[in-house]
Amino acid sequence: MKKVYNWQLKRNMDYPYEGKYPEKQFAAVFNINRCIACQTCTMACKSTWTFSKGQELMWWNNVETKPYGGYPQNWDVKILNLLKKSHDRQEKRMTWNNDDTYDGMTIFEAAEKEKTNTSQSRVLGYLPEDKEWTKPNIGEDVSPPNTTKKDKMGYITDPIELPEHKSFFFYLQRICNHCSYPACLAACPRKAIYKRDDDGVVLIDQERCRGYRKCVEACPYKKAMYNGQTKISEKCIACYPRLEGQDNHITPDGVPIETRCMSSCVGKIRLQGLVNMNRDGLWTSDEENPLYWMVQKEKVALPLYPQFGTEPNIFYIPPRWAPRAYLTQMFGPGVEQAIDLYTAPSRELMAILQLFRAQREVIFKYQIIKGPRVFEKEVTLSDGTKKSLNIYNDTVIGYNEEGKECVRTTVEEPMYERPKFHFNSI
Ligand code: SF4
Ligand code: SF4
Repeated sequence: MKKVYNWQLKRNMDYPYEGKYPEKQFAAVFNINRCIACQTCTMACKSTWTFSKGQELMWWNNVETKPYGGYPQNWDVKILNLLKKSHDRQEKRMTWNNDDTYDGMTIFEAAEKEKTNTSQSRVLGYLPEDKEWTKPNIGEDVSPPNTTKKDKMGYITDPIELPEHKSFFFYLQRICNHCSYPACLAACPRKAIYKRDDDGVVLIDQERCRGYRKCVEACPYKKAMYNGQTKISEKCIACYPRLEGQDNHITPDGVPIETRCMSSCVGKIRLQGLVNMNRDGLWTSDEENPLYWMVQKEKVALPLYPQFGTEPNIFYIPPRWAPRAYLTQMFGPGVEQAIDLYTAPSRELMAILQLFRAQREVIFKYQIIKGPRVFEKEVTLSDGTKKSLNIYNDTVIGYNEEGKECVRTTVEEPMYERPKFHFNSI
């Protein structure tokens, strides 16, 4: 095992290989609060990459309802249980310290501790059964039992209130995280998995893979999948031809464009980017990059299950209405702060949120032109304190890789009235 620095755990951790970091890293922010589970992203991916024989049960992008949904079924409960049992055996605890360092073991460290003469796994994991890959929508729109009091007629007497609903569910959008310390890569005995130097995209070399399924077993997010027809493994490829600007009918000038799942998002919940990386694996300070600003500066978007230790590169703005304890085990410390920042967004955050799905080209830089104040409201934060929220009709401009303006929009969305001549006009 080598020592690498994991900034999401704020500490060094053990990993089977030396840290090797790309020049730029594929990353994205998903705003859970806006997702409507329309599955347009899921179908955009399916119809582009996984429509062939052997891929019937493959969904590189899926949107599941938490807490009960999961593809494959119960994937997170199962790996969390494995990790918990390993901590119990080692008499350790999966906790975060007050300074937000992770005190427990990652899936790499747990596997190392638990190595026996018979089990030499480099990563703690499990192989889902075939049936667990079926029914990707299981648990959709199902919430835990409603604990709200009702009278004998069934009418609610104790209404649910923000900040936390007693009965809740939310949609979790999932693709491969193109992790900085990929578990799939660490586990592959054929060295068939690699992380690209240019953009950090994690790929499986289809020529080298022999279908041992070690990656399927090791990926804690279960985003490496086995094709029973070709007998080799496959995974999300981050639509790399689009990232490379090769989709010439869309980008004749060859600039990177967003993946199919991102660019088709109806709810405008996704913003994709390519962030600059230092040689030490930290993100290069670049406050003009909207991804850097949200993840590293404002800290309004958090990684999914950072305690696994893979340093995932998809970040989530957590949902406002779900119980904080549930969200904290899912997104780590920082949940309350992130929700408060989103509940009463700063002028800058409000402007950046308008860039989500405003166009298809990857935005490398943004700029804000200040406008007038248009709205004022008092909002309640997690601890019950009040904060005044001021909304300004600022203009936000996004620039592509070549520094050319690719989008210009305002905080107040323009309203268009449908002409009367349409037969269904009201
Ligand atoms: S999410 Fe899974 S498949 Fe994707 S890079 Fe990370 S470990 Fe590998
Ligand atoms: S397209 Fe967007 S809004 Fe629809 S399910 Fe996917 S992430 Fe959610």
